[in-house]
Amino acid sequence: MIRPIEYTVSLEAPQTQTFQITMLVRNVASRTLEVALPVWRQGRYGVLNPAGSIRSVRAYTPSQRALAIRKTDKTTWRIEAEGAPEIFIQYTVFANSLNDRTRHVDDTHAFLSGAMVFFYVPSRRNDSLLVRLDAPADWQVACGLDHAEDDPLTLLAPNYDVLIDSPIEIGQHELITFDVAGKRHDVAVWGGAAFDAARLERDFMQVVQTELKIFGSLPYDRYVFIMHVAAGLGGGTEHLNSTVIQMTPRSLEEEEQYKRVLSLAAHEMFHTWNVKRFKPSALRDVDLTRENYTELLWFCEGTTSYYDTLVVVRAGLDTPASYLRALAEGIYQCRARPGTRVQSPAESSFDAWIKFNNPTPDDLNSTVSYYESGELVSLLLDLDIRRRTQNRVNLDHLMSAMYEAFPVSGPGYTTADLLEVLSRLTNSRFEEFFEKYIEGTSRYPFEEFFHVVGLEMVPLQTDARAYTGLALQEDGASCVVRSVLSDGPAYIAGVNSGDEVVTLNGRKFRAPDINGHIERTMSPGDTVWLQLLRRGRLRRVEFRLGEKPNSRWEIRKVSSPTPEQKAGYESWLHCEF
Ligand SMILES: [Zn+2]
Repeated sequence: MIRPIEYTVSLEAPQTQTFQITMLVRNVASRTLEVALPVWRQGRYGVLNPAGSIRSVRAYTPSQRALAIRKTDKTTWRIEAEGAPEIFIQYTVFANSLNDRTRHVDDTHAFLSGAMVFFYVPSRRNDSLLVRLDAPADWQVACGLDHAEDDPLTLLAPNYDVLIDSPIEIGQHELITFDVAGKRHDVAVWGGAAFDAARLERDFMQVVQTELKIFGSLPYDRYVFIMHVAAGLGGGTEHLNSTVIQMTPRSLEEEEQYKRVLSLAAHEMFHTWNVKRFKPSALRDVDLTRENYTELLWFCEGTTSYYDTLVVVRAGLDTPASYLRALAEGIYQCRARPGTRVQSPAESSFDAWIKFNNPTPDDLNSTVSYYESGELVSLLLDLDIRRRTQNRVNLDHLMSAMYEAFPVSGPGYTTADLLEVLSRLTNSRFEEFFEKYIEGTSRYPFEEFFHVVGLEMVPLQTDARAYTGLALQEDGASCVVRSVLSDGPAYIAGVNSGDEVVTLNGRKFRAPDINGHIERTMSPGDTVWLQLLRRGRLRRVEFRLGEKPNSRWEIRKVSSPTPEQKAGYESWLHCEF
């Protein structure tokens, strides 16, 4: 089997956390050959510069004649071809970056996210490719790519973009397999925990089936869940027909946390349609050398987040009561965040590259998360669609219509396209909704919208509570200011993030206790003084306590629902009212 571009990954000394890649480029006809590494990877809208972990790059001909190679920018190398039609490029990758799901190797496995390890020829991204894995004998591969007929360790990709959207897991993992709609689903569990594999299989299958009902068909022949289970891990990344999801062993072992594993699986699987099939035009034919901007991450990520917990309820794996409690908490957190009044979900999407993926202590004051705000505005949109159509149409219809209208072979969609599809489905215009809640920072009026599914929001506490606006964390035995919220008195008084709170009114407290103590024993308007340690010097700050700007709510069923409200609830949660 011969491909224009081939890679051999040598995993001979995985215990050193390095591996060697030998790339063979055929059909070189130019005087020089450029090879490069992308600066970002699919699913993470931030520049990661993986070329920083590349070393010992050399180029040579099939007869081992060395060719001159030099770097032309942070991530590009130029080779003098000297007339050679075939050129080898060899380099070493240091791979110990597991948390960002980019590259990791040790004596138990290797994980390779293509864009972070495989060089490409910028002028030949469409060439077909092959990857040979040279690994310890007892290691197995889990990957969305097809493999050569006679060799599971030789992977095939039609082009570079498919290669880098198909992460490779190879090592010692447990394999669970199930079928949905006649298609095979593999779950490869690396790391391990004391978990019930039969239950996981059943639950993942339910999740896939529930999402299949929304979209009508599975857009792949085979799907692979790569699961990394180890202390300190969390989160996931969507890929073409696979995903990498990470979690702690505890989250597989403890009931409450296990629901998060299911919603994580539901989230990444949902992306198989939302992002991997219908995608913003800005995320088609992406530039791998720099940022790619879109205002639509609120829809790509936020709407996916909205469905990830909803699907778990619909699949019967969580209860409506616990789902509604989590929604109420989400609404509280959103309204309590000063950044909600500063940055819109569309702006948060556009600025993902410089804000969301570059967190600062001021984020709560100046930004929203396109995941969290996107989730809530998707809920609001779902409720508004239902309101305007008497529950005849809902967000599920928008999702399946987008899947149909914007196939992966097409140009992708824009915000205007999304508005057009909404209008066609509902006979109603959503421009004003978008201006207020997606491109603007208007407060989401859930109180007015929940009635359409027979629910109401009831305030849990109406009494004013004393408020500092300090978010604190423990650092060893110290209490350190993580963030100072701009709607609290500590902000104006000049408390800074990073300050150590030595005492409050002359007494030492642990970080988790200070705000609770203030709420229980003091009132808005009372004066407090803090002893702070900043850059090694003590200082005293005094201020009057403010009022906590938000209360919490309970979302509960209305006492005498109409048949329409009941039907709305049932079509939303797929549970009886
Ligand atoms: Zn996502």
